[in-house]
Amino acid sequence: MKSIIPDYLDEALAQVASDASGHLADYIPELAAANPERLAAVFATTDGRLYGAGDVDTAFTIQSISKPFAYAMALDDAGFDAVLAKVGVEPSGEAFNEISLERDTGRPRNPMINAGAITVHALVGSPQLTPAERVARVVDGLSAFAGRRLEVDEATCVSEMQNAHRNLAIAHMLRSHGILTEDPTVVVDGYIRQCSVQVTARDLAMMAATLANGGVNPLTGDQVVGARVVRQVLSVMATCGMYDTAGDWATQVGIPAKSGVAGGLIGALPGQVGIATFSPRLDPHGNSVRGISLFERFSSDMGMHVMEVPATTRTVIRSNRASGSGPDATRVFELQGGIRFAGAERIVREVVDTAPTEPRLAFDLAMVSSIDDVARRMLREVVYRLRSEGHHVEIADPESVMGDRVRA
Ligand code: GLU
Repeated sequence: MKSIIPDYLDEALAQVASDASGHLADYIPELAAANPERLAAVFATTDGRLYGAGDVDTAFTIQSISKPFAYAMALDDAGFDAVLAKVGVEPSGEAFNEISLERDTGRPRNPMINAGAITVHALVGSPQLTPAERVARVVDGLSAFAGRRLEVDEATCVSEMQNAHRNLAIAHMLRSHGILTEDPTVVVDGYIRQCSVQVTARDLAMMAATLANGGVNPLTGDQVVGARVVRQVLSVMATCGMYDTAGDWATQVGIPAKSGVAGGLIGALPGQVGIATFSPRLDPHGNSVRGISLFERFSSDMGMHVMEVPATTRTVIRSNRASGSGPDATRVFELQGGIRFAGAERIVREVVDTAPTEPRLAFDLAMVSSIDDVARRMLREVVYRLRSEGHHVEIADPESVMGDRVRA
């Protein structure tokens, strides 16, 4: 059988293909020369499977889509405190290149607007790096997210640098507030190199899938950044990723996302999939017109809104039954699926309500696919209490989802 997903993507592209609204970004001359008809969509699963339709191998510059990834690198390299001291996490509701900083601290409001992203660029790598080494660290990091070697597109870089008056103004303002401590021109040059890294829709989907996969690149298996960093980055993408339309996006699409002025758009659906689209014509906010339509379609067709999560808790108890008699009488709780706080609460409640009288108790975890820290601690406590009440408790845990401590 042929997979149904490429057909779905073809169909989705066909539905938006005729929409010629919007304009190419023209403040960077090189971008104004792009072919506006290009159109692509790619899904990358968290186990590395790619499904694509359209111009999936066309190269374009990453632009602002580099921002969440550089933010991830800065958090990983410099630590949360150092980064948060210089860049906030509040949506600005302003355009990407707005010349504004927090009134009291002089900090850029978030890492997704240019002021924040220019500051973040300077925080990547160790403070001792030369500007060229910092750019190399950024390109290496972006490549690790993509799972292949990426390069800077020199033509776009030169073209943008010649027209970087606004970013230079922002950087000088950051320097005057002491947020930047280096030469503003040098930092903007590095930031523009970061924005000029060439990618394809395929690369972007894999980069998004790395975020969706807790920071582990699904292709290479490399832990590119830690899970805590990923949580921070996805949170900022969810609230600030779409410039001044973040609220509309959060309510209508509900996938942590980031757009770029070359026409790329990524979405990372935690635990499920990385998505990328490419279509160069932009709306007045700087977001890809057909990219937005595609994401709206994906979100509603496939129930991808992060706030729409099915209740899995009802099914965590597969069975609760008694077996044997006399001193061998056993109460067996057979658990299943992914267990988090709400699932663990259902299990605690089931045990309490059952008030087992059998001398032996067994928890069968063979069908449990995952269990998070909180749920694990709650189950350990249940076992501890049952044992202190005199029950003999056994755990069947062939996949070691509980870790070892509880078994003995
Ligand atoms: N290099 C662009 C700039 O800083 C990126 C903007 C974007 O993609 O939104 O102006």
